[in-house]
Amino acid sequence: MSFIASRLIHWHHDYGRHHLPWQQNRDPYAVWLSEIMLQQTQVNTVIPYYTRFMQTFPTIASLTQAPLDEVLALWSGLGYYSRARNLHLAAQKIVQNYHGQFPATRADIQQLPGIGRSTAAAIAVFAFGRREAILDGNVKRIFARFFGISGYPGEIKTQNRLWEKAEESLPIDCCNGVIEIYTQALMDLGATVCTRHTPRCESCPLQSQCVAFQEQRIDQFPGSKPRKALPQKETVFLLLLQQQKLLLQKRAASGIWGALWCPPEIAIDVDAADYCQHQLGIQVEKPFELPSLDHQFTHFKLRIHPRLLHVVSDSHITETESIWINPVDALEHGIPAPVRKLLKQNFLPDNLTMIAQVKNYG
Ligand code: SF4
Repeated sequence: MSFIASRLIHWHHDYGRHHLPWQQNRDPYAVWLSEIMLQQTQVNTVIPYYTRFMQTFPTIASLTQAPLDEVLALWSGLGYYSRARNLHLAAQKIVQNYHGQFPATRADIQQLPGIGRSTAAAIAVFAFGRREAILDGNVKRIFARFFGISGYPGEIKTQNRLWEKAEESLPIDCCNGVIEIYTQALMDLGATVCTRHTPRCESCPLQSQCVAFQEQRIDQFPGSKPRKALPQKETVFLLLLQQQKLLLQKRAASGIWGALWCPPEIAIDVDAADYCQHQLGIQVEKPFELPSLDHQFTHFKLRIHPRLLHVVSDSHITETESIWINPVDALEHGIPAPVRKLLKQNFLPDNLTMIAQVKNYG
């Protein structure tokens, strides 16, 4: 057995995590859901979402039958909504292509929407006991430090070297739960010991052969991403209020915030009142500018300029993709994080005085 595998398996017995909710259920669906939620999200944040999701949609069949809106509403606040859309889509594919049975090999699992090589491997390990290597962000960091692999892990060359090491380090004999323990131990070491900042090397079972530790170069691994300034974009959200209700529109399924509910959005140089009158058929009072809000995506930064507009004409928008809704009730719908923040900042009971003052503006 490799040095890494034998040390980690022993370490996990005393120091690994054994009581996470998804560790109590090795049904492939439960494993899949937890692995998707854990992408880019911390364990403590995931736990309540995982529990609620499993209570609402306990099986692949129940997820398949649910409208996407309901799935997105349950996901609301967890971010990276493409994960929820792909989950819903993958459930349909499992029913269509595999008669509702979760595929059992890494190669087949990887064909499903939203599942990359490492996530497919983790599902194959935990649900089917397969001998597969994982390489998520935490594991990349461990291998980069342990083997002294420089270079940014997002670059193909570096990533290929890390995959080689991940494969070489697997335990040879993976029977009797060995592969599950080893894989969980890698995840736990990355989350609790070999952390991004101030790793606890004094408690690490790999310390005696770790290149980064031995050479005191821990801060050099993994290599940083080559710096590139993110472009800044600007947009305007129209907060149209009519009898205490706010207009929300469902966005197209593709693109940012796909299929989520948002206020109408216009370009920064478009006249808000004019747009309301000619595009929405709604007459409004003079727009009031609320404080802008910044949101960062992976590839760009977005500055949102909210404009509060009180409707003066009676609006009868009846399109199915538009709703007038109490802002507090809107928090229960599938809405993106910045819209949630906007609603909380401006429409929760504590802030209604400000809105009332705005109503008398002009
Ligand atoms: S010794 Fe330190 S840097 Fe090396 S694997 Fe352990 S925690 Fe990470």
